[in-house]
Amino acid sequence: MTHSWQNWATLSECKPQSLYFPKSITELKQILVEASINKENIKVVGHGNSYNTNFHTKRSLLSLKEFNTILETDINNQTVTFESGLSIPDLVNHCNDKNIALSNLGTNMFDNVAGACATGHHGSGINFGILSSFIESFDLLLGSGKVLTVHNGDWLYDALGVHLGAFGIITKMTIKTEPRFKLKQTVFPISLQAFNDSMKTILAANDHVKLIWAPHTQDYQCWIANRTNEPNDSPFIHWKNKTINGLLINNILHGLLLYTTKIKPSLVRPINKWLSNYFLKGKTQCIGWSDQIFYLPHLLKQDAVEYAIPIKHTTSFLQDLHSLIESHSFNVQFPIEVRFVKKDNFWLSPAYQSDMCYIGTKSHLLPFMPKTYLAYFKAVSHLVETYKGRFHWGKQNYSSPKYLESVYPKWKDFWILQNILDPNGLFMNDWLTSFAHTPSKTDIESFKKVFFDHELQPTS
Ligand SMILES: Cc1cc2nc3c(=O)[nH]c(=O)nc-3n(C[C@H](O)[C@H](O)[C@H](O)COP(=O)(O)OP(=O)(O)OC[C@H]3O[C@@H](n4cnc5c(N)ncnc54)[C@H](O)[C@@H]3O)c2cc1C
Repeated sequence: MTHSWQNWATLSECKPQSLYFPKSITELKQILVEASINKENIKVVGHGNSYNTNFHTKRSLLSLKEFNTILETDINNQTVTFESGLSIPDLVNHCNDKNIALSNLGTNMFDNVAGACATGHHGSGINFGILSSFIESFDLLLGSGKVLTVHNGDWLYDALGVHLGAFGIITKMTIKTEPRFKLKQTVFPISLQAFNDSMKTILAANDHVKLIWAPHTQDYQCWIANRTNEPNDSPFIHWKNKTINGLLINNILHGLLLYTTKIKPSLVRPINKWLSNYFLKGKTQCIGWSDQIFYLPHLLKQDAVEYAIPIKHTTSFLQDLHSLIESHSFNVQFPIEVRFVKKDNFWLSPAYQSDMCYIGTKSHLLPFMPKTYLAYFKAVSHLVETYKGRFHWGKQNYSSPKYLESVYPKWKDFWILQNILDPNGLFMNDWLTSFAHTPSKTDIESFKKVFFDHELQPTS
């Protein structure tokens, strides 16, 4: 019997031969041992929110949604330890109950923590790294049945912080939090020139910063959010922001208007202008708990690309993107979002050793509407490569293995390590093999000598 797991965007469907929902580590190990003996491919799906096919397999697919117990909350050290099927909303709710909070969040609140970390999930704020940088330690169950416990500071922490699901199964994680906090969100219109002139100051002076652009216009909005002790706005304000502005206008009305582009694709331009006038022109403020401010409603399905580019190129890249869009007469939907992420040392993090701006562009997927954005996504990818950018591992990707090797200094080491920890390729799939590096035996042996002892335990 074949099972089925569609990704959130409904862009792809994984049809594994077996689908498991283990509830305990014993059950999980049993499934893994069986797959290992039969040398059968096995993958874990988080929430299936990745736009690409990173969790796909034809053999065994594991969902850990019933393996999601919170094991310990250490209020003194402000850490939470949990089984790896825990979802971000469940973690956020638990933290709220304990009066602690995750320091930074993306806009989507329905990933699993483990699934999000696997692809380098991030929020925005130049003093905040990707989600993986808040993980204090994690357990990785290998195909051999061995468990590696990895702590922040170990070399394996850097190697596996963004692991693409290619090494084994993350079974347990400990995440660092901070005391629960409120954010004061302020949005105001800004020109690209003004943002360019004050970018350093804006990024340094505010906890969280985003730049929102209505493509086909010169309209930008600066979104900033800072920790505050001021009282929360009324529930009505939050309801209005999420339901009227977020769901009704930005999702439902926006989606309906986009149907007119079936007749004339360039109608996306007046639609963007109208949305820009509605959303980007005024100065508004809102105070709420951090999770209320970070979260944005995502009702309409969409396809997306997102690229990390060295921060110094933010405005020149946006100017080039504008020229690219207009010179090719691409019709690009509202909005293009720019976020800022602190550098880290994770071998395959798009923010590896460089503060980055992340630029995301999307196309809504509406029933009965043709998918006409592929040429645009590919053209953006080419432009990004001229800036030495790196794509988000959970979104669409068009870069060649050669290019990836050129922008990730630890690219070869990552794949050597993958071969050492998963010698039978149990956790590999078509998506990974489409760009993976195949190391030589000599490279593998030399790496082992340096980084592992004679029992194949990683050296510290
Ligand atoms: C509407 C929407 C909004 C988004 N917003 C953001 C955003 O604000 N910021 C951002 O950075 N990204 C964003 N993303 C991308 C998303 O966060 C990533 O694709 C993320 O990886 C999805 O998490 P998931 O739990 O669904 O993982 P999945 O997509 O199910 O899996 C991702 C990878 O993790 C592996 N994996 C999952 N669990 C385990 C485990 N326990 N052990 C080993 N491997 C595992 C899978 O095999 C796969 O390789 C968004 C996506 C959507 C659909």
